[in-house]
Amino acid sequence: MNNMKKGNHKLIQALNRSKVLNKIRTEGPISRIELAKKNKLSPSTVASAVQELIREGYVSEIGTGSSSGGRKPILLKFNPDNHFLLAVSITNSVMILARMNLEAKVLAKETHPIAGLQGEAVIERLLHLMDDFMAGQKDLERCVGISINVPGIVSDSQGVVHYNTKLRMTNIPLKRIFEDRYGMRTWVENDMNSVVLAERRFGDYAFANLIYISIGDGLGSGILINDHLLRGKHGGAGEFGHTSVNRSGIRCECGNAGCLDSYISWIAVYSRIITAIATGRPTLIQELSRGDYSKIVPSVFKEALRKGDKLARDLNEEVAEHLGAAIVNLVNMFNPEALILGGDLAHGNPELLDMVSAYIDRHAMPILKDDMVFGLASLGEEDKLMGAASVLLQDLLGFSLME
Ligand SMILES: [Zn+2]
Repeated sequence: MNNMKKGNHKLIQALNRSKVLNKIRTEGPISRIELAKKNKLSPSTVASAVQELIREGYVSEIGTGSSSGGRKPILLKFNPDNHFLLAVSITNSVMILARMNLEAKVLAKETHPIAGLQGEAVIERLLHLMDDFMAGQKDLERCVGISINVPGIVSDSQGVVHYNTKLRMTNIPLKRIFEDRYGMRTWVENDMNSVVLAERRFGDYAFANLIYISIGDGLGSGILINDHLLRGKHGGAGEFGHTSVNRSGIRCECGNAGCLDSYISWIAVYSRIITAIATGRPTLIQELSRGDYSKIVPSVFKEALRKGDKLARDLNEEVAEHLGAAIVNLVNMFNPEALILGGDLAHGNPELLDMVSAYIDRHAMPILKDDMVFGLASLGEEDKLMGAASVLLQDLLGFSLME
């Protein structure tokens, strides 16, 4: 057998193995015979894949299934707790380190503030925290790897953070740094890409054409097309916050002017609130924050909204108009099956969702928007950690998106 044939053979084995594992995960407990039928594989192929999966601890045999006479088949089930993974989520304000099982459930986590660190200092601090966190894990031989997500332009194949303006990181080879230091396979992915995968895999939105948009400190998007992440050449696709909305607008740190980010991110809303207060406009936000500007956070803004504050409502309407227009562009450009909204400004802000939905309804092409699902992101506060887990599980165990 020449090398190429050997390579093909190995690849086919690996593919069959992930097919079998996926079926066990999604349809288990299941018998070997059912697995062979459902995957259209020969019983011997299934048997050898299962044997390997049992030996490695990903699958175990349980009891027996029902049978109409004859020998009862042994059933197989997925073991999400026999191994674990380590997930790291870097945001512009915190670093979260977690231990998770193979169904993306958080088993333990720590959150640490970034506290104004920038560039190399962020990485130094992260490695220091990771050293301690790893030292606390007793059974590292059962760890399948480390998955890191980070905002900015990230090359997933090289594991390099090319560019993050807020944390001032450029060309940081995070994958290599981690693999050299910890001797463990490491994945690095953009945070929004991670979250859209997690919403697809573990959330309420099992669509192959899915767009996730986050509106919080900044704006971002993750775009899934036919179950593939849209990355672009350098991993920079989906920089939704830097789409131009005003050719002569506010200067942006990306080098352009008039980026969407400068108009509707929380940072933009916050500065509009401060200006309004400074010019004497009455608002509940001032009472709710007791006159302390540092206490004006998204939850205070949303409380003011709930209490009917005029300034908060005006700003929310303005955000909805800008966001609606930008989303109509995405709908018309990508024709997604579902488009979901997450981030601090979206959660607990049903009016924003309603207004954006109405905007899409009025302005997007009817054929594209009529049956499009639009809703709130479903994964809650662990979404980024679940995203990191999704990236690793999809690659390592072939947890395919298609079922
Ligand atoms: Zn920009």
